[in-house]
Amino acid sequence: MKKTLLLVMAIAAASFADITWQAQAEVLRGYTDTPLLPSGKWHVHDPHRTQPVKVTPGANSGLGTAAPGDATVLFDGTDFSHWESDKGAPQWLLRDGYMEIKPGTGNLHTKKKFSDFQLHVEFSLPVAAAGKPDPGNSGVFLQGIYEVQVYDMENSSIYADGGCGAIYGQSPPLVNACRKRGEWESFDITFEAARWNAQHQLIHPALVTVFHNGVLIQNRQTILGPSGHRILANYQQELPPTGPLSLQEHGDVVRYRNIWIRQIQEQDKP
Ligand code: MG
Repeated sequence: MKKTLLLVMAIAAASFADITWQAQAEVLRGYTDTPLLPSGKWHVHDPHRTQPVKVTPGANSGLGTAAPGDATVLFDGTDFSHWESDKGAPQWLLRDGYMEIKPGTGNLHTKKKFSDFQLHVEFSLPVAAAGKPDPGNSGVFLQGIYEVQVYDMENSSIYADGGCGAIYGQSPPLVNACRKRGEWESFDITFEAARWNAQHQLIHPALVTVFHNGVLIQNRQTILGPSGHRILANYQQELPPTGPLSLQEHGDVVRYRNIWIRQIQEQDKP
């Protein structure tokens, strides 16, 4: 009798512990054993960092923006001629005017490399991701190394520096301008590459401005260094002046369309 009671109590305690752990994981998704960011206020992927306020983007804002005459159209919905993958030729699926990630086939990279640029890209997160522990996840990697996060924010409790439009592991978006999963969304990005002098000293870090569905979410934000998980990004290593545009395959069926890029020209100094 005594043994049975103890067993029941043990099972009840285990169940309670599971529920508590799940509830905590839901509310406090993130890490506090990671390095502190330069502000000293937050850890990388800090679960307590303030989440961006939701802003409803304008109807169709940012969608269908036609490429200017001097842009390189990287994807117009018809072929992968500008792209290669981690594993050779792209194996993502070509659908009706968009590309769709085929899980397990690797990231895509442009064959061309870029330094300072203006970029337009449209994406859509999978409806089928609903209820998955890690919902739709992809990313737009500037110069192949700095991630602007693509992430399903519906019912998401991901740490603020991992949300959609975050500079991953560094800077949450100023506001959450997401649409619903399954709807088309856009990023309009201007990017200034990091610069080193002839003595290999950093002159200035990379800078990025991002509009998400026509809403400003990163305002000439300093990038701390190449993106990574649970690391404090830095520029300890001098980086090449140019790099490809990369799209992340994170195992989720994210779609992309209407991708174009313009090299930013050097301006005459006043
Ligand atoms: Mg990602």
